[in-house]
Amino acid sequence: MQYITLNDGVQIPQVGLGVWRVSDAEAYGAVTTALEAGYRHVDTAAAYENEGGVGRAIRDSGIPRKDVFLTTKLWNGDHGYDAALRAFDKSLERLGTEYVDLYLIHWPVPEQDLYIESWRALEKIHSDGRARAIGVSNFSAETLERLVKESKKVPSINQIELHPYFCQPAMRQLNEKLGIVTEDWSPLGQGGDLLQEPVLTRIGDAKGKTAAQVVLRWHIQLGDVVIPKSVTASRIVENIDVFDFELTSAEMDEITELRRDDGRIGPDPDHFN
Ligand code: NAD
Repeated sequence: MQYITLNDGVQIPQVGLGVWRVSDAEAYGAVTTALEAGYRHVDTAAAYENEGGVGRAIRDSGIPRKDVFLTTKLWNGDHGYDAALRAFDKSLERLGTEYVDLYLIHWPVPEQDLYIESWRALEKIHSDGRARAIGVSNFSAETLERLVKESKKVPSINQIELHPYFCQPAMRQLNEKLGIVTEDWSPLGQGGDLLQEPVLTRIGDAKGKTAAQVVLRWHIQLGDVVIPKSVTASRIVENIDVFDFELTSAEMDEITELRRDDGRIGPDPDHFN
């Protein structure tokens, strides 16, 4: 496993398991399998309604809590200083842990205009040591630049939709300029057409790797953190087996060339509430 050092010195494993649209019971199984396969990083959220299963799987694994990097997120209906502090307490309770490694604002929800207040709560949680690192998700140039300008603490991470169909070069560049690590959600394009792209199977065949592994390797070589989701044991194992091969810069470019003008899969963060 490779680690990336965040702007406050915290180290994050570059590959983690995502558990969106996974039931609480399934999350228990998937996280158990992932920890056995060598994962040490899990990405959940209050909105996924599986923090309980994730927390139980980590505890039951017998792996010391300090060796597992655990992320959860503040949901849109819990923005505001007091509401965010309360929501964080509830997440910790469900997770059954005294701290998380990373707490993110899930969406900025510009329409509510409460994300600066929510960030104050995250800064407090961080200074109290209850989140080792804090960050944001789905922040655009506008929302991120405002947050940085009006705050003491620069987020450690901006977790955004990013895959070869939707490469977000400008947003990656801005994150980097601000000292923020880019974390890529839906890295496999949610397992749709992307994984059938001939360029990916061609590169994979030549290296004895699958299309999914080639895509994940592309994210790693970009320097991003990546959180593929699967509940299938063989895929969970496959998705972390990406540290024994390399893509050439020509192959990296070929994959980036898959980008599409309409490549976004998820909602537009500037209008999502
Ligand atoms: P993903 O791109 O990780 O795709 C997951 C799907 O790809 C699986 O359901 C499966 O169908 C397929 N798949 C997985 N491994 C495969 C393999 N080896 N071979 C073939 N097919 C495979 O999609 P995602 O779940 O949307 O994103 C990953 C994680 O990112 C989420 O689980 C969640 O943790 C996070 N996320 C965050 C946000 C946010 O707003 N911050 C939004 C979406 C997702």
